[in-house]
Order: sequence, then structure tokens, then C-alpha cells
Amino acid sequence: MSEQHIETKLPDYGTRTDEITIYAGPCSVESEEQFFEVAECIHDLGLSWIRGGAYKPRTNPHSFQGLGEEALKIMKAGGEKYGLKTLTEVMDSEHCELVHSYVDGLQVGARNFQNFSLLKNIGKVTKDSRKMVLFKRGFAGTIAEWLAATDYITMEGNDNVVLCERGLRTFETATRFTLDISAVPVIHKQSLLPICVDVSHPAGVRDLVPSLARAAVAVGADSIMIEVHPNPPAALSDGPQQLTPAQFRVLVEELREIAAVF
Ligand code: PEP
Ligand code: MN
Repeated sequence: MSEQHIETKLPDYGTRTDEITIYAGPCSVESEEQFFEVAECIHDLGLSWIRGGAYKPRTNPHSFQGLGEEALKIMKAGGEKYGLKTLTEVMDSEHCELVHSYVDGLQVGARNFQNFSLLKNIGKVTKDSRKMVLFKRGFAGTIAEWLAATDYITMEGNDNVVLCERGLRTFETATRFTLDISAVPVIHKQSLLPICVDVSHPAGVRDLVPSLARAAVAVGADSIMIEVHPNPPAALSDGPQQLTPAQFRVLVEELREIAAVF
């Protein structure tokens, strides 16, 4: 009996190299010393981006809200000193121009994924510069809603958008959010935009971060986001999930090996 040969046609995601794009950095920019220490680590690893929060979407209004423009100044100085591109979240339309004047990439956070006036404003403000917009999925958003919302940015003239999966709110409480790893191949099928996976916010605790990062690279994510802090127990936000620079170094080497295989 002859065996039937079943040919599996795999989608072509283009040529992948062993280099990965990582948006690493502290949850919040807290001081020049803190930010520069992480920047030095990222620079030494040969990576090109640093992230950091200047305006923080905190659940509790009494929690640290971010240093605002002071953080933007620290980011600009750190980016110039260490030759890194900078990425930060814009929470309000009124801050679009200001944030745009300081950083290389503008992030839309999960809580704003259907704030359509903010999305339109970000599209307008980046129209000429075409600075990257990292657009996070809302934690109760479907992929269809996410892609529809993306058009609010791109229709204003900037299609330099990176989608970012960052975990969903489900009945599961063992992790902070449930990472929808299948969003990566689904986005690759349904959109031409690159897809990033934020592995820190779904994990919620640092010991889960390496596993999620390995999964993200193996599944074909175009980039990943990881929070890194020089002294996580003293962090003003998201301390439990941030890696130390030493832990981050080990992880990056491992991720480069995985990326070279896939
Ligand atoms: C962040 O990246 O700092 C952040 C607040 O993420 P999210 O919007 O995914 O909660
Ligand atoms: Mn955070």
C-alpha cells in the first residue's frame, strides 16, 4: 500500500535572521541613574531600543504616575549617550506633540486601544516623521477589533505601526494576564504589520518571563518587549515582573540562539 504524501504548505514569513528586536527597559523612568544603568546594559548587548514609562496608566490614582516631561528628558539624554532609540507610552492626546518631540517610538497602551481620538492624534502627529507606533492589544480586545482600531492610526498617514500582544484578562489568575501566543501567527496571516510580544505584563512575575520570551521568539514574533530594572524590589511600578540587567543578559543570549534556529 503506497503511503499518501501530504505536502504541508507553510506560510512564508520572509527571511529571518538570528537578530531579534527587543524593546527592553524599565516599566517607569525613575531617575537618570536608574535609566542610564539599563541603557548601558542594552547598549553592551548590541540592542538598539530602550523603553520606559513617563506617563503611567496606574490602576490606583495614589500610585506613582510617572515623571512626565522629566522622564522624557532623561530618555532623550540616555538615548543619545548610549546610541539607543527610545520608546514611551502616550496616554493623552494633549501629550502627543510633546512626547513626539522627545522619543523615537510612541506606544499606545492596552487601556487606550479603543481610544479612537488618541489613535487619530498619534497618526497625525507621526505622519511626517513616520516614527514607530507600538500599538498594544487591549486586554479584552479581539484581533478583529485590534486590526480595525489600527486603521485609525494608519489612515492618518503613518503605517509604521508595530502590533503588540500583551495578554488578555481571562478566568485564570495564576498569571497576571493570559498571553495569547496564537495572536502571532494569526496576525501574520491577517496583517502585513509586524507583531511584538510583551512578555512581562502577562507574566506578572519575573520567573515566568524567560519561558514566555522563548515561546514568543519560537512562534515567530517579530520583536519582544521585556521590562528590566537595576533594582526590581525598589521599582516604583511593576517590580515583581522586571528582570535585573544580569538576568536580562542571560535571556538575550538564549533568545538569540532560538531565533537562529527558527
Ligand atoms: C507598559 O508597557 O508599561 C504598560 C503599561 O503596558 P500595558 O499597556 O500593556 O498594560
Ligand atoms: Mn509595566
